[in-house]
Amino acid sequence: MKVLIVSSEAVPYCKTGGLADVVGTLLRELNAAGIDAWLFLPYYSKVINKTGIVDTGLRYAETIKGKVFKGALLRHKKTYFVDAGYLFDRDGIYGDDSGDYRDNHLRYSFFCRAVIYFLKALNFRPDLIHLNDWQTALVPLYLRDRSLNDAFYRGIATVLTIHNLGYQGVFPAETIITLGVDRSLFNPEGIEYYGNVNFLKAGILFADFITTVSRRYADEITTAEYGFGLDGVLKKRKGAVFGILNGIDSSTWSPEHDRFILRNYSVGDLRGRAYCRFRLIRECKVEVRGGYPVFSFIGRIASQKGVDLILKILPWMMDKGLSLIVLGTGEAELEKGIKKFSSDYPGRIYIKNNFSEPFAHALYAASDIVLMPSRYEPCGLVQMIALRYGAIPVARNTGGISDTVEDYDVFDDTGTGFLFDDCSASSLLESLKRAVTVYVMRKRWHSIMRRGMKMDFSWKHSLSEYIDLYRRAIEGKVR
Ligand code: ADP
Repeated sequence: MKVLIVSSEAVPYCKTGGLADVVGTLLRELNAAGIDAWLFLPYYSKVINKTGIVDTGLRYAETIKGKVFKGALLRHKKTYFVDAGYLFDRDGIYGDDSGDYRDNHLRYSFFCRAVIYFLKALNFRPDLIHLNDWQTALVPLYLRDRSLNDAFYRGIATVLTIHNLGYQGVFPAETIITLGVDRSLFNPEGIEYYGNVNFLKAGILFADFITTVSRRYADEITTAEYGFGLDGVLKKRKGAVFGILNGIDSSTWSPEHDRFILRNYSVGDLRGRAYCRFRLIRECKVEVRGGYPVFSFIGRIASQKGVDLILKILPWMMDKGLSLIVLGTGEAELEKGIKKFSSDYPGRIYIKNNFSEPFAHALYAASDIVLMPSRYEPCGLVQMIALRYGAIPVARNTGGISDTVEDYDVFDDTGTGFLFDDCSASSLLESLKRAVTVYVMRKRWHSIMRRGMKMDFSWKHSLSEYIDLYRRAIEGKVR
């Protein structure tokens, strides 16, 4: 089976979040399982890890609104890169300090067309193309159009994975002229979305199968609460929508072998963890009272992640003498809120306001409790990594969190975290209080940690689910 993955980011080349981890690991694991899998990425020349990338010599050009756009095809191992000059030669991936790049419709639609073109130029015909998120969601539509008069593209199956329905690639109606698609598609049954063009909707309509990254989220997105206006179209395609949980890369995320942490540790010997905790607290100059837990937040500082709820409970946490270490970047207002607390309470709240892989590893190994009050969470890697490292999530019972964290039951002494349903500061505070109460019961806390650390979040299960789904999609095309 020959599979092509198309994505806007992937480790080890470029990463803004979980999508990169998932795509990079999926590529490697598929190949390890004997599937001939390849990847296409944009060549973000300023922010990419460039080691070993070579030029294939293949070129693509097209004229959009009188202007010529050119793409060169580069390659490193099983990854191809579309080098499109200034379209991707920027300081950021999707945007900069002033927001998303205004021509993202052009950048990613060009990328999708270039991918289709280069497949034929390479004489590389995959059995299936696996698209990821809105940036690549026009591919099934272009493929359908091309296959009408070019047999090369006929019968290629497509799967679209929605990693986060909150991001759909919605652009003003006029941008349709830059997409090279039939204007008759601009209607509510097509790619129109309340008077705008919606890239993700194109993928939902034209891909053979749609997956999202947890079972719970696959159900949630067909409801008005979580559907971001696409619940209707997802409901129509319900038979083609599946939930496949992301795995975590066990070669990167394992306290036993992690090369970023000062001392390795395991479920049977947690001494290394105590040392990591001690050293990180000292490095961040955070005071943690004896017998008190270290709280952390790791991830995008965004309202999706419920950072506003954390800001609301911080006065209580400060009043009770608790401490918090934050790693993340994101929405300016929320960052400002955390920075204000950290200057009002020096030595109690520390924020590392950048993207740092080493610090993330150190923080997972040092935290006792990870806060994750997400408004919605398609899968969430943070809670899975945290559990592997013995950090206990206090998290909202939604999406992938519901599928991976079991709420602690004080009577049966079962569970791996402290969950709350209601998306409110008071509910977050209530489960945080539950966690703090159990934290002092050391034996119980250790049993929660041990259960979490023993959980298997590797790609093993998810990989076989993806391969099964690929087979079904390919067989559906052959028939
Ligand atoms: P998202 O919705 O952002 O994809 P996930 O929980 O699925 O959230 O994945 C986030 C991933 O990015 C995790 O691997 C997390 O450790 C990592 N991460 C998030 N923010 C940072 C940061 N500032 N520095 C380093 N790693 C980060």
